[in-house]
Amino acid sequence: MKEQIQALVQLQDIDNQANKVQIELEEGRAKLTSLETDLQELAEKISIQTEEMQAVQKRQRELEGEIEAAKALAERSRERLSSIKSNREYKALLREIDDGSKRIADMEEEVMEIMTQVEETQKVISGLEEEKKAVATAVEDETANVSSRSADVEKKLKTFESSRSKICASVEPQILSRYNLILRNRDSMAMAAVEDAVCKACHMGIPPQIYNELQVGDRMLFCPHCDRILYWRKPEEE
Ligand SMILES: [Zn+2]
Repeated sequence: MKEQIQALVQLQDIDNQANKVQIELEEGRAKLTSLETDLQELAEKISIQTEEMQAVQKRQRELEGEIEAAKALAERSRERLSSIKSNREYKALLREIDDGSKRIADMEEEVMEIMTQVEETQKVISGLEEEKKAVATAVEDETANVSSRSADVEKKLKTFESSRSKICASVEPQILSRYNLILRNRDSMAMAAVEDAVCKACHMGIPPQIYNELQVGDRMLFCPHCDRILYWRKPEEE
């Protein structure tokens, strides 16, 4: 039984290493996905800001056209003033010119506001563009990182798999299936070292009788608290 438990400890060690490299790879992939989402969100923000800016710029061009037309109209009205004989008509035309000037002033003010707004939006857009550039670089780096790492992980997993099958061949089938079952049910941790009568997996105390039996080592024993397969480890081995 001692050899069987020893083999399971080795198996657990390999399974731990395999899990670790897989988790690392998954973390890399998750990081990449989150960076790609960031990149997409930035692109969307830029496109929204650009569309808004283009809409106000269109309004600006319309206003500029209207201002030009209003100025031309005012010019013609002023020319007409000298040829008007009736006082009433003269006053009406003057008022029209005055109203026109006010309208032109209002429109010119709106154009100024639009120009300020466009300037600010352009600043926002170039800030977003900078950010997008940085994220795009990070995406590129992480993509390269993940692809080189996944090749590496695959190689490692193959090595783990071959050592695993060698060990599995030396373990009795029912012991192995017990190990695999606990592995699945207990967070990929089937083996629990016991040091000074404490289970190192769940940190609970092991009853003296089990602890004594464990040191003799001729029976497969389980932690009464976490159900893992126990093995005795002298504290100095750590
Ligand atoms: Zn335990």
